[in-house]
Order: sequence, then structure tokens, then C-alpha cells
Amino acid sequence: MKRKILIFIFLVITVGGIIFTAFTAYRFSTITDLAIKHSAETIRDIYIYSQDKQEAMNLIKNMPNIQKIEIVDRSKYVKSHKNIVVIPLNTDKKLIIHFKSLAEFENEKYNVILETIIINLIFIAISNLLLNWLISPYLNVFEELRKSIEKARHGDFSEKLHTKLKNELQKIIENYNLFLDQLNKNFALIANNLSILIPNVSQKGNRLVAVQRNMEILADVNKFKKIIEEDANADEIFERIIDIFKNKFHLTNFKLYAVLNAKQEIKVIYQTQKVCCDIDAPSLCRAYRTSKEMNSIKFPHVCPNHICKDTKYICIPFSTGGTFTGVASINFSIEEYKEKKDLIPYIESYLNEAASIIEAKYTLDLIKETSLRDQLTGLYNRRYLEEILDKLAASAIREKSMLGILMIDVDYFKKVNDTLGHDAGDEVLSQLAKVLANGVRESDFAIRFGGEEFIVVLQNVKNEESVMFVAEKIRKMFEKMQITINNKTFTKTISIGVSIFPKDTLKIWESIKFADIALYEAKRTGRNKVVRFNPDMMKEAAYDQTAKCSDNSSTTEG
Ligand code: GH3
Ligand code: MG
Ligand code: MG
Repeated sequence: MKRKILIFIFLVITVGGIIFTAFTAYRFSTITDLAIKHSAETIRDIYIYSQDKQEAMNLIKNMPNIQKIEIVDRSKYVKSHKNIVVIPLNTDKKLIIHFKSLAEFENEKYNVILETIIINLIFIAISNLLLNWLISPYLNVFEELRKSIEKARHGDFSEKLHTKLKNELQKIIENYNLFLDQLNKNFALIANNLSILIPNVSQKGNRLVAVQRNMEILADVNKFKKIIEEDANADEIFERIIDIFKNKFHLTNFKLYAVLNAKQEIKVIYQTQKVCCDIDAPSLCRAYRTSKEMNSIKFPHVCPNHICKDTKYICIPFSTGGTFTGVASINFSIEEYKEKKDLIPYIESYLNEAASIIEAKYTLDLIKETSLRDQLTGLYNRRYLEEILDKLAASAIREKSMLGILMIDVDYFKKVNDTLGHDAGDEVLSQLAKVLANGVRESDFAIRFGGEEFIVVLQNVKNEESVMFVAEKIRKMFEKMQITINNKTFTKTISIGVSIFPKDTLKIWESIKFADIALYEAKRTGRNKVVRFNPDMMKEAAYDQTAKCSDNSSTTEG
């Protein structure tokens, strides 16, 4: 259609131009003819005049273009005119010849110019009207399109196109408007999804820029999530959060802490030099208590425990409701807040992503911890000993120190079970565990080896005596302990075998065996005592073992 219109306009202009040119050419050719004719006649008239006046008169009279001839007094007529030829006569008269055709020639010239201008104006007016009528709907559409694209560039897809034309252009406009509608819907959908992924994210401003920025952040958060999934433990994840706070969001004053929900303990993970939130109990943290973000810009003085007067604060809790709740307490100056307030939803997304993974790591740690602990006594179990013993030995060798190994067994424990019941037996074991845990240093390990046998590993031992001293202390502590169960109070004793690594052997598991041999010796020689291993006991043990075997075989036989 557009092509047809252009061809039509081209034809109109071409035909109009040809007609106009032909007309002008024709008119000027007429004028030229006239001009040539009259100038020839004028020249001839003057020539005639110079030869013979009477003859000239006669000739002039017969000329078709002579308007009038008059003879006037020389003194009377002095005016000269273009189309008047004045011929002086011999007398005091003048002969004046008025050339009618010369005047016409002049008039004709002006008429032609006037006609040309009028025709031109009419032609221009018609062309304009025609062009306007044909092109203006297209121009309007182009103008609307320009505005619409300009707005779309800034993320506003509301500017639709309109036309009254019923042709291909209308279809293009309909498709364009549908395209805008689709973009509008898609961006609304993206904004909706974004608000789920990044709650509180700002949807103001250029939607294209906002979507690009938010997608970048989501990609970053996703990358962060993948990286922290592979981190070994919660502490490594917290390290990354601190790094992001400092180097990505350029936060200058913040505190990060975790509340261990079951124990209701606060574990400060990091805090910048200036401390604005100094609490020692989770219940003092409003963000923790309410599980809601505390924003002093929106609600001034919302937290009574914020002690910095010159800063505003936002405390963001992050948790999946499991073993821990993290709290990020971020402090801002007013200027800093204005500059960084739009970052808060992104900080929240990082923390929320981290929360589930920290929770998983904590749970894993807990499961591991549980699998390495004995349920009855709370002490580490044999599996834990297997995990750490080689490491402890290597470190002792490296540091040229010694490990003291105490193998402990309750004397006549079966009797408790048999006379007072299994629960009483359990109580004895729990009480012994307490004695062991309290009787050694933080760096030492008390382990339930199995049944009613325990192992204590003493680290950084200086000499044999100090090991014997600790063993004896433990024995005495337990001996004195009053155990009450079902209103019955009694005491029990323990026997302890002692070996020293690497003094007795360079093989750590052999030290355990040596401690066991020493324990056996303690039992054999009367119980309720501490016995230091010596290699002679190995022969005794071997002998006793053989004796036991032969006893058993004779019993079986008997
Ligand atoms: P000894 O002085 O020679 O050590 O005599 P004993 O009676 O202690 O003998 P033994 O070491 O063989 O007894 C171990 C008993 O401990 C056998 C088992 O029924 C009991 N036992 C093992 N584990 C537990 C437990 O978790 N709870 C209770 N109540 N008893 C346990
Ligand atoms: Mg035993
Ligand atoms: Mg026993």
C-alpha cells in the first residue's frame, strides 16, 4: 500500500510538472514571438522615419499594431513612453505613434508571470493537501512509534500506537501493540518472581535496568550458594559472608552472630571495631526474638540494646528454624544508609541462601557429633578415638611430647547390675563419666571404650609421674563418690592401667593394648588400684590367657 501511495504521489508530481513546464514554455514562446515581431517593427518604423516622413506615415498607418497616431505641437508633448515613438517633423509639430501591441506585450509578460505564480501556488497547495491527506496518517504513526520506543527504552511499555487506516499498517500496529502487552506481562511476571527470590527488592525506575541488575545479583547469589555448598563447615560460610559484606557491599560497621537455638547461646562470629550491639543473651535481641528485620530508619529506637547514638541500624535475622539463627546487625551513618539502602534486599538474599546451607552444615556436624558420642554418658565413643588417635600420636611425635593412656574398668560392675538392676549400673557409668570429664584438662580426651571400660588420653604429658598422679586422682575421686539409686547409696571403685606413648612403644594402638595389660594386672592383683605397664606383664598376661583357655576347655569337657 505504501508503495502504491508513493507511486501515485510520484505520478502526480511528474504529470503536474510536465503540464506546468509545457504551459510555461508555451506562454514564453508566445511572448518571445511577440517581442521579436514588435522589436522588428519598431526598428523598421524608426528606419522608415529617418528616410521619408510622409511615406513613413503611410506605412505606419497600415501597420496592424499601431494603436493611434497623432501629430502634436513640439512644445506640447515632451513625455516619452516605452510604447510611444515620437517623431519630430520639420515643422513645429511632432508625430506620436502609440504602439498598441507593445503595451500588450508588457501586459502579457506580467500576466504570464502572475499566471505562473498562481498555477504554481495552486499546484503546491494541491500537492500539499494530497500529501497531507495521504501521508499524515503514516507520519502520526511514526511520531507515536518514536515516543513509544523512547519510553520502551526506559522500561515503560504502556505507549501504544493508533491508526484509522485499514491496511497493512494497521496489522503492523496491532502486532506492535500486542508485543508491548506481552512485554508488559513478562516484565510483571519477572518482577513478581523477583520479589519472591529477593523480597523487598525495589521495582522502581527503569524496568530494563532493574531486571538486568536483579538478574546479576541473582546470578551472584546463585554462584555464592554453589560455592558455600562445597564449604567444609559453617565457619567457612560465615567467613565468606564477612568477605561479601566488606568487599562487595562495602559495609564498614557490622556484627554477625549465630544463636544456637537449643542451647540459647550467642556465638559472635565477627564484629567490626565499633560495637553497637553488645548483648550476651539471645532474648535481648529483638530481631532474633521476633524473627523480623529491625530497621531504625523506619522505626527509630526499635531496639533498646543498640548503644551507638550516632548510627542507624538494620538487624537482619536469617534462619530456617532449625539448630541456629543468624543475625546480621548492620550500622549506617545517614549518608551511608541513603547510598546503600537499595542493597539491603540483596544482603538479605545472600543471608537467606546461606541460612539453609549453614543449617545443613550444622545438622551434619550434629549428626557426626552424635555418632561420635556415647548417648548414656555424653563422652566420646570408640569411633571418635579411632578418628583422632593417629593424629594425636603424630602430633605428640612432632612436638616431642608424650601421651598418657589410662584404661579404666569398674570393679565388680556386674554385681551392680545383678543386685540393683541395669539402671543402677547405668547410673554408675554416668557418674564415672562425670568424674573422668572433670578430672582431666580441656585438651585431654575421656572416651567410653565399650561396656564399662573407659580410656583417658592425656596430652602434652611431661613425665610418667604426672600421668600416674592424674590416674590416682581419678581413682580416688570415684572411690569417694556416693552413688544413690532407689534410695540406696553405695560406692564403687575402679582399676586403671597406664601406658605412655611413645615411651612404651612407637605404635599408638599398641599403647592402648599395653594399658589394657596393665589394667588386667590391676585386676589380677586386687583391683581399686592404678598400675603402670611394664613389659614383664606381657608374659604374665600371655600365661594367664593360656591358663584361662585351658580352664575353659576343662570346664567344657567337664
Ligand atoms: P571386674 O572387676 O573383673 O571388671 O568385674 P566385672 O563385674 O566388672 O566384670 P566385667 O567387666 O566382665 O563386667 C562387665 C559387665 O558390664 C557386663 C555387662 O552386662 C555390663 N555392661 C556393659 N555395658 C553396660 C551398660 O551400658 N549398662 C549396664 N548397666 N551394664 C553394662
Ligand atoms: Mg569390664
Ligand atoms: Mg569390670
